[in-house]
Amino acid sequence: MNKDQIVIVGGGLQGLATAYTLMSRGEDVLILERDADVASSASFANAGMLTPSQSMPWNSPSDILQILSGLGKKDSPMTLSPSALPSLFFWGIKFLYNSTPKNFDRITQNLFSLGTYSKEITKELRAKFDLSYDESEIGTIKIYRSQENLDKAISLQERIFNNSNPISILDTNELIEKEPQLTDIEDQLIGGMHFPGDETGDAYKFCKHLEDLIRKNGGRILTNTKINKILMNKGKVNCIVTDRAILQTKRVVVCAGSWSRDLLKNIGLNLSVRPVKGYSLTFDTAGLNNKPSHSIVDESIHTAITPFQNRIRVAGTAEFVGFDDSIHQKRVTYLNEMLKNVYPNLYSQIDVDEGKIWHGFRPMSSDGLPFIGKTKIEGLYVNCGQGHLGWTLAMGSASLLADEVQAIQSEIDIKPYLASRSL
Ligand SMILES: Cc1cc2nc3c(=O)[nH]c(=O)nc-3n(C[C@H](O)[C@H](O)[C@H](O)COP(=O)(O)OP(=O)(O)OC[C@H]3O[C@@H](n4cnc5c(N)ncnc54)[C@H](O)[C@@H]3O)c2cc1C
Repeated sequence: MNKDQIVIVGGGLQGLATAYTLMSRGEDVLILERDADVASSASFANAGMLTPSQSMPWNSPSDILQILSGLGKKDSPMTLSPSALPSLFFWGIKFLYNSTPKNFDRITQNLFSLGTYSKEITKELRAKFDLSYDESEIGTIKIYRSQENLDKAISLQERIFNNSNPISILDTNELIEKEPQLTDIEDQLIGGMHFPGDETGDAYKFCKHLEDLIRKNGGRILTNTKINKILMNKGKVNCIVTDRAILQTKRVVVCAGSWSRDLLKNIGLNLSVRPVKGYSLTFDTAGLNNKPSHSIVDESIHTAITPFQNRIRVAGTAEFVGFDDSIHQKRVTYLNEMLKNVYPNLYSQIDVDEGKIWHGFRPMSSDGLPFIGKTKIEGLYVNCGQGHLGWTLAMGSASLLADEVQAIQSEIDIKPYLASRSL
């Protein structure tokens, strides 16, 4: 093993984006992934949205009220399990602290700035290698069924983004003109917003392209390899212990998503990231009529519906339940209902028994911002905590991480995201 090689723990969106970026800047990279395939955890079947427009962190006062009202319930879009409360205690205090209006606005602006930077890099990568991953550049739409919520959303846009986030505010007629498949529920809609700068696509397919690029250009990816421990010597990274062997290395980047915290805890670092479970349900739409073209978000319940080529995916829900892997039938019913609610005509043609249910754990930081860069241990870096925006932020986060590793001045202000604020 080359002594300067950088070992990257985890082959999800952050691990692959990090490895690709470091490799394209001349570094020798090795990804170690415990699963048999890359991107089989949170990056597998997400809502597929690259949405700087959705940069609001999930600790707004209204979200917190919704989380608390879902305490112990399994049919609320946001739930909190009483058994997860102890592990959420200190994280939760920071989460609440960061929900003050001033912090909320600052964090939203920071996420928007990283998301916009990230999306541009994603576009450049797609153009450079002619990548195709069911991508769409027609933007995303938010729909509103209440005038009060629409008015609040418009004033939030004006307050925080001050024209930097390109949007069109649409009345019902304009909304239907933009997305004709919403005609079915026209009488329930007040209006909406179109975000022309947003993109969508299949994150797993995107990850497989990154995997290909890494392998073809000399980077290595070992799957079925779990890192059990990172070992140090005199405050510096010394080696990593996998379930196959011990590897000597001087530089490690932890991109293990929601599991990063456990790995870092072993060496005395306390990463303020917790898993927030979400679900998606994907249906085949080949040969069906009334297929929408836009990705639609219903913000009040954190649900998104994204059409891909010959598929449609409904995704959402936020469960604070630790790493509970069970799939609740109520969730499947809820997602079915959501799709039926927005596109009743399309839903009536779908074979509902063939829907593919999936769940993933969003790595959610307590302040809503990712942790990127150096830790106090020499040679140890992290890139994780992107939460509900893990694809939106992936290429930009990887670029900032590579800047830190190579001590290069970043194109955007890196300070808000630095891991050193906590590690
Ligand atoms: C329902 C849902 C919808 C979403 N929709 C969107 C969206 O529309 N847009 C968006 O931007 N984001 C979205 N997200 C968020 C996004 O999917 C995540 O933020 C992102 O996938 C996290 O990527 P990651 O690489 O940090 O983590 P992961 O994808 O979880 O990858 C971490 C990897 O590390 C590996 N690993 C862990 N521990 C070890 C170890 N000890 N040794 C070796 N390997 C290890 C895991 O196996 C895993 O492959 C959504 C998430 C969910 C759940």
